[in-house]
Amino acid sequence: MNWDDTTGAEAAAERLVGAAADGEDQAVEAALRPKDLGEFIGQEKVREQLDLVLRAARARGATADHVLLSGAPGLGKTTLSMIIAAEMEAPIRITSGPAIQHAGDLAAILSSLQEGEVLFLDEIHRMSRPAEEMLYMAMEDFRVDVIVGKGPGATAIPLELPPFTLVGATTRAGLLPPPLRDRFGFTAHMEFYGPGELERVIHRSAGLLDVEIDPTGAAEIAGRSRGTPRIANRLLRRVRDYAQVKADGLITQEIAAAALAVYEVDARGLDRLDRGVLEALLKLFGGGPVGLSTLAVAVGEERETVEEVAEPFLVREGLLARTPRGRVATPAAWAHLGLTPPPSQSSGNGQQDLFGA
Ligand code: ADP
Repeated sequence: MNWDDTTGAEAAAERLVGAAADGEDQAVEAALRPKDLGEFIGQEKVREQLDLVLRAARARGATADHVLLSGAPGLGKTTLSMIIAAEMEAPIRITSGPAIQHAGDLAAILSSLQEGEVLFLDEIHRMSRPAEEMLYMAMEDFRVDVIVGKGPGATAIPLELPPFTLVGATTRAGLLPPPLRDRFGFTAHMEFYGPGELERVIHRSAGLLDVEIDPTGAAEIAGRSRGTPRIANRLLRRVRDYAQVKADGLITQEIAAAALAVYEVDARGLDRLDRGVLEALLKLFGGGPVGLSTLAVAVGEERETVEEVAEPFLVREGLLARTPRGRVATPAAWAHLGLTPPPSQSSGNGQQDLFGA
């Protein structure tokens, strides 16, 4: 969903540990979404602050301030926007930046909103420029100028809008132009989830899907979910299939580990692509530094796939570092693949300076 590049998008879509929603996710997610703030797991700060914003608006009988949610895919931005609508007892309209290419597309949506409606605009950073400028005025004054006609004869017809709440979502708030960012009354950054929170997500989803799971099974799946509820829910479904076919249906640690071994998702949530990149870096290039293009050729992937699909998680996990001289494996990478760094490591290839001994 967030990949501008087709190769990266294809590679991401096929992955069991990809964070963007696939078709199956979309079908199942509706049933798994928490319906109110009380059910929403983790993100304590965001929840607490949002709770205050919504309560205050309700007490004033007003429409809630515009909300900007930033964070990686699958962390619950769409879910939160639906919760905002539910808590405000307001209807919700869902659209996304890429779907709004012309200012007219946005004008059509805005002019059909009901009073108090929540407009969820996913990937808001990918809206076209003219639409973005129209949105400024709509957010601030609840008004848009609809341009009728072309060229010198064109006239702007002002159109009053009912008050509404815009919930914008973006992978990074830094991608938004400051004038847009400043028009949000409340901005929240969503963090990756800790293992305990993911375990709660998994137990909750297992309950809703009528799947039996013990705490060790939930912990095993949580550890492989890359801090992302969407991935946790997806892995749970795959493990459930395995438990039904190969065992008595109960998900234990052994069953979860065996199931995810079949799908090549390892104990830290790395999949075949991630491990391929790491293995090439360690085995072929002694841990680096090596250039991105060379590394990509070695694993038989496009440069963009390595850079945009595999590397972000490896970097986040502290397994790989991007340095001006190329990609470098960290000591944790050697340990994760059960390999010993060559003795020459400590002299001269850059690891010494980067990571100490
Ligand atoms: P995003 O919009 O950030 O990509 P979503 O809101 O679509 O993410 O969340 C993906 C799935 O993960 C949802 O179906 C929901 O079931 C689950 N999920 C996300 N956040 C939470 C949470 N805090 N508690 C429970 N489930 C969650």
